[in-house]
Amino acid sequence: MKILVINCGSSSVKYQLIDTDTETALAKGMVSRIGMSASVLTHKPHDRPEVKVSGEILDHIVAIEYVVAMLLSENHGVIADRSEIEAIGHRVVHGGEKFTESVLITPELMLELRNLIDLAPLHNPHNIRGINACQKTLPGLPMVAVFDTAFHHQMPPKAYIYGLPYVMYKRYGIRRYGFHGTSHQYVAEQASQMLGKPLEELKLITCHLGNGASVAAVDGGVSVDTSMGFTPLEGLLMGTRTGDLDPAIILHIMAREELTLHEANTLLNKHSGLAGISGVSSDMREIIESAHSNHSNARLAIDAYCYRLRKYIAAYAAAMGGLDALVYTAGIGENSPDVRECSCENLEFMGIRLDKAKNNQAVGQKADISADDATVRTLVIPTNEELVIARDTKRIVEAAK
Ligand code: AMP
Repeated sequence: MKILVINCGSSSVKYQLIDTDTETALAKGMVSRIGMSASVLTHKPHDRPEVKVSGEILDHIVAIEYVVAMLLSENHGVIADRSEIEAIGHRVVHGGEKFTESVLITPELMLELRNLIDLAPLHNPHNIRGINACQKTLPGLPMVAVFDTAFHHQMPPKAYIYGLPYVMYKRYGIRRYGFHGTSHQYVAEQASQMLGKPLEELKLITCHLGNGASVAAVDGGVSVDTSMGFTPLEGLLMGTRTGDLDPAIILHIMAREELTLHEANTLLNKHSGLAGISGVSSDMREIIESAHSNHSNARLAIDAYCYRLRKYIAAYAAAMGGLDALVYTAGIGENSPDVRECSCENLEFMGIRLDKAKNNQAVGQKADISADDATVRTLVIPTNEELVIARDTKRIVEAAK
């Protein structure tokens, strides 16, 4: 089955056309700067070089039209007819407490998704826009919503409740939800295969370190705790997000700088984290480069990033009462031996010990980077969120037939 996987942001659409028989991407790409000047579509067929096309891409509907045209194009396409696309899988960031697994998209579901906008005003509206755009451009195709929050739905109340009046949870659904669920789930399953042990028997800590970053404690295949919270702002330092912060700081800064809610939101989500501390960039590669040329705030950003990650790793081992394997994934986790080494420092007491040479060699590929005498395995596993979305879409569409 050929499934189009769509991940919509405010001004971008990422896509992959996945053949579920071979579990490979026939093509992948991204439309960026939607609604701005110089919109661009980057498209990579699996067997030919990447191409870039710029155009007037005013909204998500036009963006999806460009994507379909590219998939069909004579020179860069991978299908001969649009009927070859059998279903569409959509990444939806927030499923609230209601959606604990992926679901078929129906008119009733769209109403429920709109009700969830209140929980995720920065993310869900764009996902809904993507679904509407696909309904217009590829009418009649079955579509499935796959939620970032779903994998974390079995977290126990002691892990998800905040120290606020309980009525805030009851009235507004304020609790930890967790995100990046498809990635944590995928790498946990891959780790079980690499270790040759059933997931049910493993205690894992999965570190998804991309532009957004989160850690999950996966005990017996169940996410029992995770660092992102009510929104994807909590937890680790990220490219531009603060991660954990004393909430009183926000009130203090808002008062001192006379910030509006919108400005405060922008400060916390867009100007903080690695970019905020380093003053260099949100991109870990550039920060590492600057640190190597003795940029002191770049060094501080990396140290703070790794220190916080290390604390989460130890905390989650304590939460589970043990650890079999630590997994690194996503852009930074898969590609940065420096960050892996720095975040594992001082964790020898709990059995984590890296083999320096193996760590340095593991760039963008599956690898066991533990030293021979480590009692906890440390693994690098490239994530594949799109494949999880495609698999779920296939399963749900076939069950609905
Ligand atoms: P993602 O959101 O998963 O695409 O990850 C993006 C992040 O991965 C950015 O901060 C990149 O700088 C980082 N990244 C990608 N390649 C490397 C690398 N070789 N070393 C360090 N960070 C990298």
